Amino acid sequence: MEEKKTVLSCIQPTGDMHFGNYFGAVQNWVHLQDTYDCYYGVVDYHAMTMPYNPKKLRSNTWDLIINLMSAGVDPKNLFIQSMVPEHAELSWIFNCFCSFGQLTRMTQFKDKSSQSNQSSEDGFIAAGLLTYPILQAADILVYRADFVPVGKDQEQHLELSRNIAQRFNNQMGKEYFKLPECLFTETPKVMSPADPTRKMSKSAGEKHAISIFADPDRIRKQIKSAVTDTGESSGEMSPGVANLFSLLKASNEMDSYNSLMEDYKKGSLKYSELKEVVAEALVKVSDPFREKRAKLVANKKDVKYQIKQASIRIRGRAQETLREVKELAGLLNAKM
Ligand code: AMP
Repeated sequence: MEEKKTVLSCIQPTGDMHFGNYFGAVQNWVHLQDTYDCYYGVVDYHAMTMPYNPKKLRSNTWDLIINLMSAGVDPKNLFIQSMVPEHAELSWIFNCFCSFGQLTRMTQFKDKSSQSNQSSEDGFIAAGLLTYPILQAADILVYRADFVPVGKDQEQHLELSRNIAQRFNNQMGKEYFKLPECLFTETPKVMSPADPTRKMSKSAGEKHAISIFADPDRIRKQIKSAVTDTGESSGEMSPGVANLFSLLKASNEMDSYNSLMEDYKKGSLKYSELKEVVAEALVKVSDPFREKRAKLVANKKDVKYQIKQASIRIRGRAQETLREVKELAGLLNAKM
């Protein structure tokens, strides 16, 4: 029998899960579970790269676990990064297989370092913000993943992971790491409702992300106030309207999508109508998640137990990789 291919993907516990996370990545995570050997991590080490509150980090981590389970992720595939310390150990090794120049070219570093600089009083920018794509390479390669379902924003980081794997393989004279590939959904980049020229993101501020667990009225309100016209008339569909249409498509409301698109082409589309349909589509997608979430919240103890068990099992695979990597790299393993 052919061995199942491995899928790995991660998400940061930096706030609620939004429709960008869901349509860009998590929806795919759920579909892939039937076909692949899947590892899905809540990456709390990554959330330390921006100014943060330790108590909140811990509660956000468990909240996100519950959110992912509510959206259909199987708890046996879920782990918490800090419960698998091999990620950090491999990350150090990879620090020596990645150049400083490569890191400074990462667009996310450029964006987030200016955000961090503005949000902290003393202009502090953590070195971890520069090096976190290396930790991300370790997250992926420690499971020797074949595929990484992510949003478009992660493409550059994945290319870096491939470079690191290649450099390691070249230096060790062995094709040890496979070169992982991105898997995109049909909606790899969901834009912010408040500024459709930038991606939907929780770190940019509340108005830039629509939580999938928000109260339906809040979802309706956010879509109602979504920016549609940006004032420019290039003849092309404006980014805000395009974003609303892509949310409708991602929600699988193809009949409404086609008929509203017809209206758009004829020039008779009413934005208020488009918004109403999109808001109801998002509420419909997220309704079952809200229901499931309420049940999981009432069983938090059980959830924690399941995730700790899964993390211990998943750690076994990471430990196996680390042992082999250390062997190859001339490092020492203590034999028990
Ligand atoms: P993060 O919240 O940055 O940890 O991202 C978790 C996953 O969601 C990653 O695979 C991202 O690529 C994806 N993602 C985040 N924001 C968006 C967005 N606006 N559109 C599409 N995918 C996204």
